[in-house]
Amino acid sequence: MPGAGKSTQGNLLAKKLKVPYLSTGHIFRELAKEHTPLGRRIKLVMNAGLLISDSKTLQIVIDYLKRPEYQKGYILDGFPRTLGQAQKFKNGIEKVIYLKVSDKEILWRLAYRDDGGREDDTLLAIRKRIEVFHKFTDPVIEYYRKKGQLLEVNGERTVEEIQRDILKHLKVHAK
Ligand code: ADP
Repeated sequence: MPGAGKSTQGNLLAKKLKVPYLSTGHIFRELAKEHTPLGRRIKLVMNAGLLISDSKTLQIVIDYLKRPEYQKGYILDGFPRTLGQAQKFKNGIEKVIYLKVSDKEILWRLAYRDDGGREDDTLLAIRKRIEVFHKFTDPVIEYYRKKGQLLEVNGERTVEEIQRDILKHLKVHAK
């Protein structure tokens, strides 16, 4: 979910496992700053709370993962976010961590982000992102649950508690 703590936990985990961290949201925010047709299009889509197309998203992620630093593993943040992305992505996913947070809590967090908020944190875009999450990403969660790859953690706790929980579970699964 938007505001669930993906980047916080993703960065911590990447450091712990000594693998690079890749966030599609971050890549798109950087592209949105460019004064190019692609940059402008991405900015419009993001500020409306909608998703970038599967083909563009897949192309970008697959391109990044060809770089040498990603060959020993990676933490992906915010991808795959649609069933199409999940089914077409062939680079390999071992575990999927779902930080579970209620819609109500998400609304609070995003409307009052303590880092001053982002351009796509308007109330309208926040509501849209939550709606889009349920429509497109709920099925992705089910997809990985069925494959036995889903690690579901309660995201409504402190950063440290959540991290401890994730690490504990990953170790158990690694045995
Ligand atoms: P949040 O989860 O808080 O919305 P992200 O940084 O993960 O923040 O994503 C911000 C925006 O970037 C999304 O609302 C969407 O427009 C775009 N985006 C990020 N990841 C994807 C993806 N995998 N597929 C399509 N669009 C994406």
